Amino acid sequence: MLDFNYNALSGRVIFGPGKLSQTRAEAEALGMTKVLVLSTPHQRDLAENVADLLGDLVTGIYDQAVMHVPVETIADVMDVVSQLEIDGCVSIGGGSTVGLAKAIALESGLPILAIPTTYAGSEMTPVWGMTKDGIKTTGRDPRVLPKTVIYDPELTVGLPDFISGPSGLNAIAHCVEALYSETQNPVTSLMAEEGIRALGESLPVIVKQPDNMEARAKALYGAWLSGTVLGAVGMAIHHKLCHTLGGSFNLPHAEVHTVVIPHATYFNRDHAPQAMSAIGRALNVEADEAAGALYDLAVSIGAPVSLKDIGMLEGDLEKAADIATTNPYYNPRAIERAGVRELLENAYRGTRPGSE
Ligand code: NAD
Repeated sequence: MLDFNYNALSGRVIFGPGKLSQTRAEAEALGMTKVLVLSTPHQRDLAENVADLLGDLVTGIYDQAVMHVPVETIADVMDVVSQLEIDGCVSIGGGSTVGLAKAIALESGLPILAIPTTYAGSEMTPVWGMTKDGIKTTGRDPRVLPKTVIYDPELTVGLPDFISGPSGLNAIAHCVEALYSETQNPVTSLMAEEGIRALGESLPVIVKQPDNMEARAKALYGAWLSGTVLGAVGMAIHHKLCHTLGGSFNLPHAEVHTVVIPHATYFNRDHAPQAMSAIGRALNVEADEAAGALYDLAVSIGAPVSLKDIGMLEGDLEKAADIATTNPYYNPRAIERAGVRELLENAYRGTRPGSE
């Protein structure tokens, strides 16, 4: 019986190759007249291109966005925000740069125009994060949701295969958990299944032909769907584990998602039959092969499949199981320590789910 709530988030999306050229028109439509362009140091050139497109609307470029939004960076950028008296931000880059724009929006209420260049999906969510003394806190606030997002697949061509693969699998992980979310609904499930399909089809092409624009567009489309469902419904065991592993053991964000998602899917296989069927349909396998197919996808694109290979220490597995089972999120299968410890062991060793 259908029975659900669905809170659609507002936001304008412009999608297509070359759409970066619409940046000025979109900033004007948001009423921006004094714009701060944000980027990482690595993407400074791109930020300058965006500033050129904005012309006299631009007031400054801040190119110090870094991973996990440290409070020191927020304090630094807020000085710039008040000195320049800006009235909006344009972020060009991945989740780290959008994250900085969100921190500004949280403190000031200023609007964000986001131009993503990875598959992280943060631009579609009202979720902010910041890190103080090594501890990351997150929260939800509608003010941090970008007002407009320009998805231009041409901007993702330079994303190397070792970032494209894990970034895409990180997006798939959002879709997988959306399918068995406590708050899932038929609309987000359609988007999630389509997101897995789009990324599952495009990532293997991208790692072989990075400038294949059709595959780049399909991956970015999947990333948009993944960000949309991440923003709309709650997540489960996989995200709890990834926050634990990333936050407490300082493991790289997208790679942790890549390694854990086949095992989290396997953990839930008997408790989320509709989700397994949807993942199976999206990846062209039977429902009972859903977890294995996610693992095979990671292998096929040369992405990491073991926690050992991305810097986890075996001695930390017990502590990780303790943290991950404290205040657990909703999950379709009850969270018991022994099961989570086994999941972590298999992810550490990098075995194919079901082959242990
Ligand atoms: P990132 O933004 O840290 O980018 C990684 C590196 O790749 C950076 O040096 C960046 O400059 C570079 N880069 C980005 N696009 C490039 C391109 N097209 N070509 C070449 N280099 C490029 O990585 P990410 O995976 O996009 O974001 C990760 C962060 O986003 C994490 O902190 C994560 O917690 C956060 N995140 C937040 C949400 C949310 O809803 N709040 C969702 C997903 C991720």
